Amino acid sequence: MTETLQHFIGGKYVAGESGRFGDVFNPSTGEVSGKLPYATTAEVDAAVRNSQAAAEEWGKTAVPKRSAVIFKMRELMVARREQLAEVLCKEHGKTKPDALGEIQRGIDVVEFAAGVPHLIKGEFNSNIGGGIDLYSIRESLGVVAGITPFNFPVMIPLWMGAMAIACGNAYLNKPSERDPSAPNMLAEMWKEAGLPDGVWNVIHGDKEAVDALLHHPDVPAVSFVGSTPVGEYIYQEGSRHNKRVQAFCGAKNHMVIMPDADMDQAVNALVGAGYGSAGERCMAISVAVPVGKETSERLIEKLAPAVEGLKIGAWDDPDADINALITRQAKERVEGLIQRGVDEGAKLLIDGRGATLQGYENGYYVGGTLFDQVTTEMEIYKTEIFGPVLSVMAPSTYEDAVRMINDHEYGNGVAIFTRDGDAARSFTDQVDVGMIGVNVPIPVPMAFHNFGGAKRSKFGDTQMHGPESIRFFTKMKTVSSRWPSGIKDGYQLAFPTND
Ligand code: NAD
Repeated sequence: MTETLQHFIGGKYVAGESGRFGDVFNPSTGEVSGKLPYATTAEVDAAVRNSQAAAEEWGKTAVPKRSAVIFKMRELMVARREQLAEVLCKEHGKTKPDALGEIQRGIDVVEFAAGVPHLIKGEFNSNIGGGIDLYSIRESLGVVAGITPFNFPVMIPLWMGAMAIACGNAYLNKPSERDPSAPNMLAEMWKEAGLPDGVWNVIHGDKEAVDALLHHPDVPAVSFVGSTPVGEYIYQEGSRHNKRVQAFCGAKNHMVIMPDADMDQAVNALVGAGYGSAGERCMAISVAVPVGKETSERLIEKLAPAVEGLKIGAWDDPDADINALITRQAKERVEGLIQRGVDEGAKLLIDGRGATLQGYENGYYVGGTLFDQVTTEMEIYKTEIFGPVLSVMAPSTYEDAVRMINDHEYGNGVAIFTRDGDAARSFTDQVDVGMIGVNVPIPVPMAFHNFGGAKRSKFGDTQMHGPESIRFFTKMKTVSSRWPSGIKDGYQLAFPTND
């Protein structure tokens, strides 16, 4: 049954009026599961106006009350994670354990956001001179737009949105067209948690909706996660319209394996980080960098059979290692890049093309693929493949490995596997990459630290979640204040509370 999906605005579902729809698919089977309305500029404007009215009240709501709503959402998320995972998996294709991991990382940020009374505290100096006190306060911005990608349809709206609303803003999410149902479910859950209508709205659409947000005078801030070309456009176009913009973008993450590394540990890490979620993660490892020929040979000897043994499977197959890719176009693109690698002279050790699954012949599967002898000039090295494809490149020295990493246009994540603390320490100093793992393959920081890449993996100054997100989602006011005499406003004997 094909369901016609709707926007979620002002605490209720609202049918799209544009007459423009896109199909939503179940990637595991290739079947169409829904029709998604694509909003017009006028519909986006109506959503912004709704969010703006809600933001006015919510921004004035006492911070502990905002925190209480967020805490309630955390409880709902924990109670509903199985349900949410199923909704997510049916449109994304990822396996259920993988979806539950994503949801947990979303819950982590909701928990962190519930600590906003502490996080948003200002700065204060008593008596900077002449009885004047000087203090800074952080105020909400109003309506914040969040434009989010397909690969984490729960986690990323929560990473942005929970922090945005904790800071007193209204969050207007424009999710990916590929998997819109989980973002809708989040909006329903926020309502159930007690969030006032309009503080968390969802508007669906494509470039037209995004442009309407970027050009809207009443949207002062835009947070984006997605590919680099789109992120760069959003950063430039949003900035041109005087918005603050942060854009977290594409990646090509290397993992250096030093000759002294524990090879079993390194291989396990590479298989998980390279092929988990079919490589559709911005923090996936896509380049293995064993240092020296001998390290490379030892690596491939263990890695190749492990990759060969990976099983493709539907989201609800408990034995699946590699899920379907998001669309037929994504599958064709990844297979095309594999061919390009062969044409350019890389050695294809394991070919995942042509993978089929009985009963799921129309699913978008590509099996685990492994290339050796990849060089920096090849397209498969330069491009983010976003599929289950790992390239092995073996520079002869550690210095060459670092140079290669720093010369790449992306700088999202990187890892080094070694037993040598000195090498690890030099590495963390020398690489121009935002998130670094030492014997940790997917170094995604926890909610209370900052997340973000370097070079063309990120546009804008601030990071995602952590203390930096408070700075992104608030503006600062600084007050100089002198009170010649105290305030006398009567007395109250009951224990003081916020109510
Ligand atoms: P995408 O760039 O295609 O889409 C992201 C969002 O932008 C979606 O909401 C989409 O509707 C919108 N969009 C797409 N094309 C647009 C256009 N021309 N104009 C305006 N808006 C447009 O990305 P995706 O395929 O959904 O996600 C995968 C990408 O996201 C990968 O490159 C991945 O590395 C990146 N990503 C980065 C991070 C990070 O934190 N750095 C995290 C997750 C994903």
